[in-house]
Amino acid sequence: MQIFLARTQGFCAGVARAIDIVEQALARYGSPLYVYHEIVHNTAVVNDLKGRGIIFVDNIDAVPDGARLIFSAHGVAPAIIHQTRVKQLKTIDATCPLVTKVHDEAVRFSTDGLDVILIGHKGHEEVEGTAGHVTAGRLHIVQNAGDIEKLDIPAHRKVAFITQTTLSLDETRELILRLRARFPRLTGPAKDDICYATQNRQDSVKELAGICDIIIICGSPNSSNSNRLREKGEQLGIQSIIVDNANELDPAILKGKQNVGISSGASVPRHLVEDIVHQIRKAFPEAVIKTFDNPEKNIIFPRPEI
Ligand code: SF4
Repeated sequence: MQIFLARTQGFCAGVARAIDIVEQALARYGSPLYVYHEIVHNTAVVNDLKGRGIIFVDNIDAVPDGARLIFSAHGVAPAIIHQTRVKQLKTIDATCPLVTKVHDEAVRFSTDGLDVILIGHKGHEEVEGTAGHVTAGRLHIVQNAGDIEKLDIPAHRKVAFITQTTLSLDETRELILRLRARFPRLTGPAKDDICYATQNRQDSVKELAGICDIIIICGSPNSSNSNRLREKGEQLGIQSIIVDNANELDPAILKGKQNVGISSGASVPRHLVEDIVHQIRKAFPEAVIKTFDNPEKNIIFPRPEI
C-alpha cells in the first residue's frame, strides 16, 4: 500500500491567524475570554481552546456586559457589532482578511444601489455575516441552479454577485455562468471570492483522484471546505470518506486498496492527519508514505496587535 498525503497540509493562513489571535488574547488577558461562534470549524481545535478557558457563544446576550469577545474567522454582520457596542464589549476581530474582502464587496455593491446575489450555503456562519453587509431587501442568497430560477429580479437590471469563500470551484463557476445568462448586466469580483486555500485543496484532491483508489478527508462535519473536498473526490469517481479524527476511521475499509489518498480541510491541525497515518500503518505496516511539495508554506496573514 502507498499512502499519498495531499500537497495542502495544515492550517490555511486565515485559520492560523484566527487561532493565533485567540492564543495571544488568552495569554494577555486570561479568562474569561469569549469567542462568537466556533473560532474555526474543527472539533479538536475548539475542544482544545475550551479546555484552556475559552467560552464559545452563539448569542451575544450570553456574554456579560463589558467582557472581552473575539469574532471568529468566519466574520460577523454589522448588526452583531452593534449588539457588542450596546453591551460595551471589548472586541477583537479574527475575521479572515479574505472574508473581510467579500464584506467590502458587499458594501460597495450595496452603496451602488445594486441587488446582491450571494452564492453560498444558507445558515453557514460566513454567509450570515456577509449577508448582513448587504442592504436589507437587496439580498438574494442562492445555493443551486433552482434558486437562480426562482430569483424575482427583472433580467435587464444591473445586479452583482459575491460568493462564500469555501465553495466548490466548479459548481460556483457553473452558477456564475447561469447568472450571466440570466442577467446580462451582471457584475461581481473578477472571478469569484473562493479563497486560495479552498482552491488549492480542491486541486490537490483532483491530483489524488488521478492516482488513488480511495480518498480520506480529515475534517469536521460542519467544515464547509472539508465537505467540498469529499464531494470533489466522489464527483471524480473515487470512493471518498470524511473523518473528524483517526478514531472515526475503520482501517477495514482500506483492505485491498493499493493507493490511499489523505487530504484535510483548511482548519485541520496537522497532528490529526498524522494520527490517521499512524492508524493506517498499525493495520498495514508495509504502507509507504508519499508526499508532494506544499504550495502554501510561505503564505502568512499577519495578525493585528492584541
Ligand atoms: S479557508 Fe480561506 S477564507 Fe477561510 S480562513 Fe482559510 S484562507 Fe480564509
